[in-house]
Amino acid sequence: MRSPNVSGMAIICRVRRGARRALTVAERGLDAAGVAGRRAGRAVRHARASYRPAMRLATAACVLVTALALAAQGGGPGTAGPCGDPGPQARAAAPWYLESFAPDGTITRTRALPAGMVSSGITGLPASATPIHGATTANRFTVVFVGDGYTAEQAPEFAQQVDALWRTLLATQPFDAYAPYLAAYRVDIAAPGSGVSDDPARPAKTPSPLGMHYRCQGVERLLCADDATVGSYAALAPAQDLVVAVANSSTYGGLASGRGTASVAGGVPETAQILAHELGHSLGALGDEYADPKDLGGHGEGGAEEPPFPNVTTVDTPTRLLQDKAKWWRWLDTSAISTYEGGLHQDTGYYRPTADSLMRSLGQPFNYPSAEALVKSLYGRVKPIDASSPSENVATRQNLTVTTVLPATSLEVSWAVDGAAVPALAGRTSADTGALGLAPGTWHSVQASVRDTTVWVRDEAYRDDAMTQTVSWWVWGG
Ligand SMILES: [Zn+2]
Repeated sequence: MRSPNVSGMAIICRVRRGARRALTVAERGLDAAGVAGRRAGRAVRHARASYRPAMRLATAACVLVTALALAAQGGGPGTAGPCGDPGPQARAAAPWYLESFAPDGTITRTRALPAGMVSSGITGLPASATPIHGATTANRFTVVFVGDGYTAEQAPEFAQQVDALWRTLLATQPFDAYAPYLAAYRVDIAAPGSGVSDDPARPAKTPSPLGMHYRCQGVERLLCADDATVGSYAALAPAQDLVVAVANSSTYGGLASGRGTASVAGGVPETAQILAHELGHSLGALGDEYADPKDLGGHGEGGAEEPPFPNVTTVDTPTRLLQDKAKWWRWLDTSAISTYEGGLHQDTGYYRPTADSLMRSLGQPFNYPSAEALVKSLYGRVKPIDASSPSENVATRQNLTVTTVLPATSLEVSWAVDGAAVPALAGRTSADTGALGLAPGTWHSVQASVRDTTVWVRDEAYRDDAMTQTVSWWVWGG
């Protein structure tokens, strides 16, 4: 944290004495803490009385209170959000950041407000979840799109826009090669009115179900939603690895939280890039590669410490990366991969693999080290074999089968009997035990192995551990 000036220090000290109470005031609008807290509480009550215009005033007041209170807390352990998710305990204690995205691809951050300081949604409306991609199984990474500001009559429009967003996301490498590892649901909510609040092109006349609104916290194109309400509707889907609030709007805007939630404009399919960036954080545990002139703190402030992210380092030369076998050392023989100064919201002190990438600005691809991290993370979440049969020892002639998530043609499938490879079965997903030539009168071990040999991953130890799966049967030799 930067050294505050004298007057700033005085304010921070005052807030420090009642930091927790001030936060409570900001969240609940209670008049129980210091001067700043009372101002925030008044602003909140005023906002509730006169709705939208005053909400902006309350927001500004609470941004001040929150920033000071959080500063007084020292930033909390393992700053979360776009710096990665440090886990539930730290998540509860730490401040986090919302990212907003400009049409030219520029990414900027804003400190998140406490829960309750964004406009409220409407729970209990008629809603339903519809699968739009992939199998309904726990062995998938599941994305849930929740629509906001679509009336019942506009449900087909929402479906069409989600399809466009989804196709755009799946066109992004490396997701294009791993689409079967993903599942997606659409949650339709019958909104009482059309559109979302503060849309400069078409502002809604009434609050929308998810409370989505543009110019969140006064930031142009930052599209906030009531997270709790979004979560309550997303729960209609059987799993929620990434939850996306979709505004019925054609105005460019969005938000990435770094915590598995994002907002986009349904009428702008390009905002699917925001989802890809969010997946970089919440799935790939990637760090940001851009510099943030606002210097809000968190990772990147103060320098020197090696960050946990696979795509950012303090190591300043390719030669040292190779010597240390650190971060993206395996990719340094690839053109354009080097150590570029600037990343983790700082201009200096941190280094990234490429001049530009999707973790630095939209409209760019993930660089190879980031794509590798994403594929590895997918394998941390999804096993390459969905099912195998039979599930017990085999005493009579039958087929042994494995069902792979990816088509078997894009995997290496091999078989072995009593430890010896059976080349004739290579690439097959089933084997007839009667054709294995098993010696009679004893049990034999039969194994099927599935291995992803993708060039996106160069970490062979990880390939052996997580990207290879073997199933075994004991088969009686007739
Ligand atoms: Zn980010």
